[in-house]
Amino acid sequence: MDDPAARCREALCYLSQVSGIKVLRQSSFYRTEPVGFEKQAWFINAVAEIRTVLPPQELLKAMQEIEDTMGRLTGPRWGPRVIDLDILLYGQEVVEDDDLVIPHPELHKRRFILEPLCEISSYTIHPVFGVSVRGLMERLDDDSRVYLYRANGEPCLA
Ligand code: ADP
Ligand code: MG
Repeated sequence: MDDPAARCREALCYLSQVSGIKVLRQSSFYRTEPVGFEKQAWFINAVAEIRTVLPPQELLKAMQEIEDTMGRLTGPRWGPRVIDLDILLYGQEVVEDDDLVIPHPELHKRRFILEPLCEISSYTIHPVFGVSVRGLMERLDDDSRVYLYRANGEPCLA
């Protein structure tokens, strides 16, 4: 909502402070057109690569704590929110729990995910489709607009 790029930087800082998580790389920030619920401001989206000892469910919990800390409001689905942290991939693992699906089920459908993901990880293989992130981009049927907002987000000083 207010200053979404600052919120993304903040979230990355929080993430890097979690014990057992190391942020290795982050993409540029992208301004992205809202999909599905369109009468609202554009989003900022970015992707980070982390190394972690936390298993998927623990990682989800850590990310949800960051969302809570940052005062995420519960509003309409796809509506404005302070921050939304999602797990896109977890190595080559496939998870299908009630509350956690990895790879993220929207990953291959959304330009606002694939553009930043492709920037930092174009050769990574989607473990279910067996196709690289670049390959998913080439097959993508989503013409919603995604613009580079700021080349690689400023490094976290924390
Ligand atoms: P969305 O991210 O779809 O816009 P929410 O952030 O409100 O919506 O997520 C709703 C639920 O999605 C979370 O409570 C979480 O349990 C679940 N979920 C399932 N798979 C994932 C994933 N890969 N990353 C993050 N959340 C996930
Ligand atoms: Mg989410």
